[in-house]
Amino acid sequence: MNKRSAVSNASRNSLRVLLDLDQVLADFEGYFLELFRQKYPEHPFIPLEKRKGFHLTEQYKHLHPDAVEKTREIYHAEGFFYNLPEIPGACSAAKEMAAMDGVDVFICTSPMLTNEHCFVEKIRWVNDHLGPEWRGRTIITRDKTIANGHILIDDNLKILGACARPTWDHVVFRACHNRDAKLRGRSVLENWTDGSWRDLIEDYLKRI
Ligand SMILES: [Mg+2]
Repeated sequence: MNKRSAVSNASRNSLRVLLDLDQVLADFEGYFLELFRQKYPEHPFIPLEKRKGFHLTEQYKHLHPDAVEKTREIYHAEGFFYNLPEIPGACSAAKEMAAMDGVDVFICTSPMLTNEHCFVEKIRWVNDHLGPEWRGRTIITRDKTIANGHILIDDNLKILGACARPTWDHVVFRACHNRDAKLRGRSVLENWTDGSWRDLIEDYLKRI
């Protein structure tokens, strides 16, 4: 019996998919670079095809002595997280996934604690791009290992936390910074536009 829980409207028997926000649904890297080049047109920058490593400031700090401060000015600014553009096809895929029989979809996103606007702007982004009902399906946590799902789709290759064996399988979402990374047995989702996400979900639906 596919019983709906009174509190969350999710089903105990469904496939639970956790979607990361930044660089899976929202284009952090592309928007950062656009703003950085607008604000500091004379400053050296790292084109997306040369980005390496999850934290962009770690790479920028080797570029120029003041690059760290300038990168932070961009992503600490009010409005940065709210104004992130959508990764192509992401929101329609998320909505279609959530409408599939036997699938419950949640957003699972880590806040940037040094940006005081980040929490509320992430919720506003979800509200505006996915719909108000998705606000209640949004988990904002620094520790994704404690979130209980079957799949976590995330561009970050290192997801560590209190739980040594999370319930989810990590599916790596392709991003500029992880294009050469070793997947170590993990599945990868290259984009939201070629339809391969449907095969991934169908495959998991057969397994649970
Ligand atoms: Mg991310």
